[in-house]
Amino acid sequence: MGKGVTCPSCGGSTPLPDDVRVPTFDCTFCRTTLQTADFAGQGVVTAEGIARHLEGILDMNAQEAVEGAQALDPLEDRNHAMHDASCQLCGAPVKVPLALEEKVFTCGGCGKEQAIVRYVSDEDRAHLDMDRQWEENQALDRLIASGVSCGRCGGHNAVPDDGTPQVICVHCSNVILLGEHVAPGALARRRLRRAVFGLRDEAQARQDAADATGRIFAWLFLAFFVVAITLAAIFLE
Ligand SMILES: [Zn+2]
Ligand SMILES: [Zn+2]
Ligand SMILES: [Zn+2]
Repeated sequence: MGKGVTCPSCGGSTPLPDDVRVPTFDCTFCRTTLQTADFAGQGVVTAEGIARHLEGILDMNAQEAVEGAQALDPLEDRNHAMHDASCQLCGAPVKVPLALEEKVFTCGGCGKEQAIVRYVSDEDRAHLDMDRQWEENQALDRLIASGVSCGRCGGHNAVPDDGTPQVICVHCSNVILLGEHVAPGALARRRLRRAVFGLRDEAQARQDAADATGRIFAWLFLAFFVVAITLAAIFLE
């Protein structure tokens, strides 16, 4: 079971900031300053920035929307799995990275740098990455359905379906980190899904309220632009 947000100085269980974009927070017991990303995960912090930008986009002009998106950190959600193979040059066993960000690897046997596509096609790597994301999302769905047990008291807690990184135990106030129970990338994707669906609903509501239709399409185009430049291939479902 996870340790949650446990202060390394005093051992107290202290909550993350409500807005995980706030980079540091103080332990409520001993006032030690802690780094939000160390506990929430950098991906969750990055996703929060993208989500907030999407949620505000209907009230921005095009320049604000585009420049704001360009100032955001892209979400990195790397596939850490490796493909086992034999080096085509020397026959030594090699582990070929499946992370789409990587293009080459170096054989530990002969020391030669080689293109990953000679071992696994980019198309296969993209499919494997989608499978990984799908499985991580399914694991999060199962956690939401089952709830989570507190690492301190063992009590049962509900898990919200909004990508929040933490749950405060209703029995003992221990802070449970959901990223210790499922892949943090799944939490980041769930947070983005909430933002995207919320944006869609808000745009629809404004359209129903007889705003100019042309502007709605412009907003949605901007939203897709933001998603396109800040996210790699990503699976929200
Ligand atoms: Zn402390
Ligand atoms: Zn080799
Ligand atoms: Zn508890």
